[in-house]
Amino acid sequence: MTTTVVVERLVQLPANNCPFCLQENLVLTHNSSIEFCIHCLNCRADGPIKPTAEEALDAWNQAGLTQEKVIAEAVTAEVARVTS
Ligand SMILES: [Zn+2]
Repeated sequence: MTTTVVVERLVQLPANNCPFCLQENLVLTHNSSIEFCIHCLNCRADGPIKPTAEEALDAWNQAGLTQEKVIAEAVTAEVARVTS
């Protein structure tokens, strides 16, 4: 059983908006084994689970960058397809 506890709102932390729903409604959570992850209150997405809040934040931000890169590559491929 996992108990998720909201420990801190990320108002002061440089978290990217949620890569899934693009909202900023994020909280830092930890479970009963004191591992941290960023959680989106809007779409309930969870970031990677990490042993520290800082690592969880970094992993969340990298996940966002990855998502943007995937979207950018998809757009580039579609433009190439349409214009060829
Ligand atoms: Zn979200």
